[in-house]
Amino acid sequence: MSLLITGSIALDSVKTPVEEHRELLGGSASYAAVAASFFTPVNLVGIVGSDFPKPYLDLYRKHGINLDGLQTAAGKTFRWHGEYEWDLNKRRTLSVALNVFETFHPTLPDGYRRTPYVFLANISPQLQMHVLAQMNAPRFIVADTMDLWIETQREPLRELMGKVHCIVLNDSEARELTKETSLVKAGRKILKWGPKYVVVKKGEHGCLLFAENFFFSAPAYPLEDIHDPTGAGDCFAGAFTGYLAREGMIDHDRLRKAVIYGSVLASFNVEAFSLGRLQTLTPQDIDERYQIFKLMSHFEFG
Ligand code: AMP
Repeated sequence: MSLLITGSIALDSVKTPVEEHRELLGGSASYAAVAASFFTPVNLVGIVGSDFPKPYLDLYRKHGINLDGLQTAAGKTFRWHGEYEWDLNKRRTLSVALNVFETFHPTLPDGYRRTPYVFLANISPQLQMHVLAQMNAPRFIVADTMDLWIETQREPLRELMGKVHCIVLNDSEARELTKETSLVKAGRKILKWGPKYVVVKKGEHGCLLFAENFFFSAPAYPLEDIHDPTGAGDCFAGAFTGYLAREGMIDHDRLRKAVIYGSVLASFNVEAFSLGRLQTLTPQDIDERYQIFKLMSHFEFG
């Protein structure tokens, strides 16, 4: 089944202690859409400026991503500039330029409105709700967010949580949002606010999935070579939702598998800057790493 994805589309400049790259394709929707495209057809909703490089449009097309909902406006594309420390879990935003994003108020193409699965990647909760309001009874809605919205848009974010089936956020965001130190308490608290499922990502420590009577903990893939962690969370959520959309059904086994596929795509993405690694990725690579995940986390008591 198809999946609608909205979020940011950006030209990212990223610096790590060993490498620096400028004006690469980024944004929450770009990462999520490309990761999801390995599982299911994607309808993208976003905005770019007239300066957006054509090769990046070709990259979306190469992944079969439907661009009917991609608006090109006069002006510059959204830009983000970030820097990582030696501990690549620590990131500092150096600058953000909203540019064409400032006036983004999308109207969905008619062909998008009945898309059964939806992933609202990180953008303001008002924009996420604006897109959702135009959808015709989607079957499963997943939303992501970030610290900025927790700090500045707490009420709209709480409203959004009452409208989605699943929320995906990282550990520090879960703590900040709920004011709980325990991630288990944080997950349980968020469940009470509306979503049926809460996924808490813990970076290189894996992730947790909470539901009312169900819990799943997955490890992260122990990678030796991490070049750029940008977009790992978006790839996780894109693949997680993309896999569920492909299956067309939600149950505990499928949710567990979706968490592992999310972790697999996130682990590949950090092996190169921008969407570099996902460009060479094959379904066979995904299957092989999925099997390694299975082996490395499987045990039985004798
Ligand atoms: P992640 O590493 O998963 O947190 O996502 C990184 C992506 O988020 C980058 O590609 C940025 O372009 C994008 N991003 C950064 N700040 C914002 C923001 N305020 N709104 C939407 N997207 C953003």
